[in-house]
Amino acid sequence: MTTPASPAPTEGDAKASNFLRQIIETDLAKGTYTSRHWAGSPGDAAHQAAGQPDPAKIRTRFPPEPNGYLHVGHAKSICLNFGLARDYGGVCHLRFDDTNPEKEDTEYVDSIIDAVKWLGYSWEGKGGSHLYQASDYFDFMYRAAESLIERGHAYVDEQSAEDMRANRGDFNTPGKNSPFRERTPAENLARFREMRDGKLPDGAAVLRAKIDMASPNINLRDPAIYRIRRATHHNTGDKWCIYPMYTYAHPIEDALEQITHSLCTLEFEDQRPFYDWLLERLNEAGLLASPPPRQYEFARLNLTYVITSKRKLAQLVNDKRVSGWDDPRMPTIVGLRRRGYTPEAIQLFAERIGVTKSDSWIDYSVLEGCLREDLEHKAHRAMAVLDPVKLVMTNWGEVFGSDDHLETCTQPALPHSAIAEGETPPPDRVFMIGKAVWIEREDFEEVPPKGYKRLFPGNVVRLKGGYVIECTGCAKDADGRVTEVHAKVIPGTKSGTPGADSVKAKAAITWVGVADGIPAEVRLYDRLFSDPHPDAGGKDFLSALNPDSLKVVQAWVEPSLAAARPDDKFQFERHGYFVADRVDHGVGGKAVFNRVTGLKDSWGK
Ligand code: ATP
Ligand code: MG
Repeated sequence: MTTPASPAPTEGDAKASNFLRQIIETDLAKGTYTSRHWAGSPGDAAHQAAGQPDPAKIRTRFPPEPNGYLHVGHAKSICLNFGLARDYGGVCHLRFDDTNPEKEDTEYVDSIIDAVKWLGYSWEGKGGSHLYQASDYFDFMYRAAESLIERGHAYVDEQSAEDMRANRGDFNTPGKNSPFRERTPAENLARFREMRDGKLPDGAAVLRAKIDMASPNINLRDPAIYRIRRATHHNTGDKWCIYPMYTYAHPIEDALEQITHSLCTLEFEDQRPFYDWLLERLNEAGLLASPPPRQYEFARLNLTYVITSKRKLAQLVNDKRVSGWDDPRMPTIVGLRRRGYTPEAIQLFAERIGVTKSDSWIDYSVLEGCLREDLEHKAHRAMAVLDPVKLVMTNWGEVFGSDDHLETCTQPALPHSAIAEGETPPPDRVFMIGKAVWIEREDFEEVPPKGYKRLFPGNVVRLKGGYVIECTGCAKDADGRVTEVHAKVIPGTKSGTPGADSVKAKAAITWVGVADGIPAEVRLYDRLFSDPHPDAGGKDFLSALNPDSLKVVQAWVEPSLAAARPDDKFQFERHGYFVADRVDHGVGGKAVFNRVTGLKDSWGK
C-alpha cells in the first residue's frame, strides 16, 4: 500500500536519506496532506476551512521555550526542521513555546530570532510570515478544555499533590481513580470556571484528562492539563491565573498551525499516545482541522566534551566560569559564532550526523572537521607569531647597503588547492622583510634535539615567503633566556625570484616583520571540559572544567590583518584558524583574534 518513495528534490549536494525523509516522501506520494487549507494564520477548523488550499506541501516547526540561549543541539533541530521544509516545498514555523508564565524573557526571544536567521533559515513564505507565540492560543486552549469537560473527557481534581502522586501508581502498579473522577460534566465545568476566575488558590486543583488510570503508559493515567498559577505572563499579563500544561498545549499549538510533521526528541516518545488522543478528541468535536499533525521522534544530539542542558549552561554563566552566553568556549550558537564557526559548517555538521532513532554520542572532532572543511577554501592565509622572539640578520646592512632597507614580499591569500576551478584568486598579500623579524620562540634551539630541522647554529632555513637564512647563534639574558636569535641572510634567495632555490633550506618557518608587523591579542581557546562526558551519570560537571581552556598571548601578525573586520576568519599558517573577535576586535584600535581550531584534529589525543 505504500508508494515507493521518490528521490528528495535537492539543491546542490545530494542529501542522504533518513527515516524522516522517507516518511515525508511517502506522505507526499500518498497525498496525505493535500486536503488541508490555510487561512493565512493559525486557527481552528472553521478558520482554516475558509482559507485557500495550503500552499505549503508540509509544515514543520521549531518550538523553543524562550528561557535561554540556543545551543548546538538546538542547531541540529533547526537544520532538520527548516531543512526538511525547504527541501520538500514546505515551510517551517518558528514558534515561541511561551505557555509557562514564569520563565520567558525578551532577551532570549531576540537571541533565538538572531540564531535562526544567522544559521541561514527563514520562516517567511507559503502564505505568511510564520513567527508565532504559543500564548496567543490560550483562548483556544481554554475553549478546547471546556469542550473536553462537556464531553466527559476531563475533570477537575482536588486531591492533594501527595495523594495525586501516590494514586498515579508506578511502572509495576496501576494507578487508583481519584475520588473526584466521577464528577458530572456540569460540576466540572462550574469548578473549572471557578479555577479560571481565581476562586481557588494556586495548587488547589488541576484539570485532568480522563483516560485510564491503569494504562501501562503512565502518561495516559489522567494527565494534568491545566493548573492554577498566579503569575504575570509577558504576553497576556494577568488575564489568566490558570495555565495549560506543556503536554496539552503542544499538540494544540501544532494543530492550530496546521503542522504536518511534528519532530521532537526521543524522550517525548511516551507522550505520543496522549498527543494523538487529545487531537482525536478535539477533531471529533470539530474544533481542529483534519488530518491532525503527527509526532515523530529522533535522537537528540549528544556531543563529547560538551554539555547542552540550558540549566547547566546558565550556571557556567552565572558562576562566571565563562565570560557570558557568547563566550567562545560555550556550545551556544552565539558562542560558536564568536568562536568563528560558520553557518555553513553547522549545516554541514547537521547533514553529516543525520537523524536516527537511537541515542549516541557524536565526537566533537566531527563538528570541528566540518568547520575546517568550510574554512579551508574561505579563510585567507596570514602569518602570525604567537610566542615572539626577535631574529636579527646581522649581515643585512652589508648585503642591502643599509640596516633600514626593506624588501617587499608577496604570498597568495589562498593556496592554489583552495581555489575552485574558474574562481578568480584573491589578491596576494604584501609584507616587508627587514633586518629584524619576529619568529616563534620554539623555532630556535641552541642545542637542537634529535631530528630538529628549524633554527640552530649552522642550520639553513627559509623565512617563508622571504629569504633563506643561516643561523649563527643567539643572545641571552642573565637567566639564560634567549633574547635574540642571530642569522645571516643569504642574498639572491628571495621566494619567487629566479635564484630562490639555489640554496636548499632544511625547513620553512613563519615570521612577521618587525618593521610592519602589528601587535594583536590572541585568545587561545581549548575545550571547556577535559572529560568527554562532563555531566554523564550525574557527575559534577564543574569539576571537569579544563583549567587551560583559555590562554591569552600578545602576538605579532602580518600587516594584511590590519584590514580584518570583526568575524573575518583567517588561517594563521602552522597555527590553525583564527577569527577577529566580534566583540573586542577593533575596540580602541586593538586587534583581537580568537583561535577557532587547530589545523588538525587533536580531540582524540
Ligand atoms: P530545556 O533543557 O529547558 O528543557 P530544551 O533543550 O528541551 O530545553 P527547548 O527550547 O524546549 O529546549 O527546545 C526546542 C527544541 O529543540 C525542541 O524541539 C527540542 O527537542 C530541540 N532540542 C533541544 N535539545 C536538543 C538536542 N540536544 N538535540 C536535538 N534537538 C534538541
Ligand atoms: Mg524543553
